[in-house]
Amino acid sequence: MSKSRVTVFLRSLPLWLTMFLGLSMIFGSAHASYQTERPVQHNGGIVNQTYLYGEAFGSNQHRGIDILDSNGTDVYAIAAGKVVAVREYNNDGQGSYFGNYVMIRHTKQHWDSDNNSNFYIYSIYAHLKHNSVNVALNDLVAAGQQIAQIDNTGNSSGNHLHLQIVSSSSSNKNDPQEWAWSQNESINPEMWIEPFDHNGTQTATMVGRVSDSNGNKVGGKYITGVQKPPTAGGRQFWISINVQL
Ligand SMILES: [Zn+2]
Repeated sequence: MSKSRVTVFLRSLPLWLTMFLGLSMIFGSAHASYQTERPVQHNGGIVNQTYLYGEAFGSNQHRGIDILDSNGTDVYAIAAGKVVAVREYNNDGQGSYFGNYVMIRHTKQHWDSDNNSNFYIYSIYAHLKHNSVNVALNDLVAAGQQIAQIDNTGNSSGNHLHLQIVSSSSSNKNDPQEWAWSQNESINPEMWIEPFDHNGTQTATMVGRVSDSNGNKVGGKYITGVQKPPTAGGRQFWISINVQL
């Protein structure tokens, strides 16, 4: 196997069309695709464009995405799995980073080509509404099952869901805050969650195909972008992708 680096530049687009990538596949494995459902279905869930995945927070980085919606909006499991952590012990969560949270270890594993093994995938839902969590430790949940509601508990300045996805070789993780600022195990959730369903229209758009360094198309590989709702603002990105050929 050889690795080539493919860099794609999303051309300057009108603000309402500015998009961020949503890769629909992971390259080089039979266990390739890992697409999940959206954790917020109301309005498709608008991602805060001023504090994206990887943004600096002091000397740390934001390791999830923040989905803005009103207090009490339902939150859904992004994939099937087992509840491995729940905290719901206060109203405002002051003094805690994630406030009230749920963490799920998903049934489906992900082939980690760097380590040549299957990794466990965890999702974390943070800043949840007090007394809204309706799953318990060790419960099995289905994809799309309603698990809690949005609020503003913990270190948070407005109603939103912090969604974080982590890939780990360990099957027994149970402290989501261990990964609050992890630099190397979290995955940008926008890589894996399905496209927005904004006003009834799915907004994923193919933005390019993958080519090797000679400009030849790599069969079946393509890149999709997620068109953000206009009220969410937008940015322009360089996208750098490692492809195993
Ligand atoms: Zn966040």
